[in-house]
Amino acid sequence: MNHKESMRLHQEALSVIPGGVNSPVRSFRGVGGSYPIFIQKAEGSNIWDVDGNKYLDLVGSWGPLILGHAHPQIIKIIEETARGGTSFGASTEREIHLASLIVDAFPSIDMVRLVNSGTEATMSAIRLARAYTKRKKIIKFTGCYHGHNDALLVEAGSGLATAGIPSSAGVPESLTQDTLVAEYNHLSSVEGLFEIYPKEIAAIIVEPVAGNMGVVPPANDFLDGLRRIADDHGTLLILDEVITGFRIAYGGAQERYGIDADITCLGKIIGGGLPVGAYGARRDIMEHVAPLGPMYQAGTLSGNPLAVAAGLETLKILQQPGTYDKLEELGLTLERELLSAAQESNTPVTVNRVGSMLTSFFHPDPVSGWKAVTGSDTQLYARFFHHMMERGVYMAPSAFESAFISLAHTDQQLTEVGQIAKSFFQEIR
Ligand code: PMP
Repeated sequence: MNHKESMRLHQEALSVIPGGVNSPVRSFRGVGGSYPIFIQKAEGSNIWDVDGNKYLDLVGSWGPLILGHAHPQIIKIIEETARGGTSFGASTEREIHLASLIVDAFPSIDMVRLVNSGTEATMSAIRLARAYTKRKKIIKFTGCYHGHNDALLVEAGSGLATAGIPSSAGVPESLTQDTLVAEYNHLSSVEGLFEIYPKEIAAIIVEPVAGNMGVVPPANDFLDGLRRIADDHGTLLILDEVITGFRIAYGGAQERYGIDADITCLGKIIGGGLPVGAYGARRDIMEHVAPLGPMYQAGTLSGNPLAVAAGLETLKILQQPGTYDKLEELGLTLERELLSAAQESNTPVTVNRVGSMLTSFFHPDPVSGWKAVTGSDTQLYARFFHHMMERGVYMAPSAFESAFISLAHTDQQLTEVGQIAKSFFQEIR
């Protein structure tokens, strides 16, 4: 594959953008790459780079594009809406419709506030939990990523894990001294923190299915256990459903696992591929948010008309019968194909999948937490990534991320991914 134009653009980008990218994990450094591909266009399940190479896209912009790229209905509504103006910094009717769809999808949400990113959603959720409980401390889990908020940039997954950075420079200790870290899928590590700080913890924030250390599903009793512990201590449970919301079920992890959050964070899918985020909760919690209450949070572009129109249309399409069955079937096809490709050559691979999100770990044993995740063979993943890429399959350029399948993918395409994976496993045998 020729990447001449991507390499040229990368050189140009390096002089004006740090690392040449606007988000670190895009850089391909996590898989030993010296430049990323630059994207020209995308349609359905495919993307094309600036050198004209076509790839089957398993990144899906890191989750938002559950309908695939440039879905005709989404493009149409964005075009129509844009003709009437792109931002007013004032209320529009569609914001009520999107908020209503979110409230209908999540029984734990009575009211919702739209923001511009997942980072803003989790930042606001933490502030709200602290305002509501009048407590300071929060618990997060190693390997979970909640955006680049100061207080949450501690032992985080995603780009930080990829770069081997435990926490970010530039975050003073004073901003993380109230952040406690527990181990994902280990309730005893949470209980231990409550024994030390029984009345000081405002919130537990968790990815109900971890997606930012690769996919790690919650153990059987994990989410129920967190719910119980939070209730026992007057602590709020924040479920960060930025990835899982409308992805692993229409009502997210809360529907799939039958659990209620106190505060829910959303993003990605609810913007239909445009920048958006949201946080919602029951009425008595949300009434703390300004202008009703004393917890301040605002945004010039919040509830942006284009993002709201695209998100609303996306949710309406997702409501069609059979949507989540189809995503489940497609996910299962990819899981089976990858596993059978690996088994044929006796390569130790564990595939973790929840619906249409999936990670293959080069690890012989079940991967149920951070320790196993970091024990997987990331160098082999890097080789796998480049092998797939060279043969037209675009996967996450990091071993600590999820693949995302969309409704635009087909069984046949995912079977072909399995065939290409097979050629890799044969090569390394
Ligand atoms: N929470 C989770 C679970 C995420 O996966 C992400 C981003 N991948 C965020 C929050 C932050 O969202 P954003 O990148 O839109 O700020």
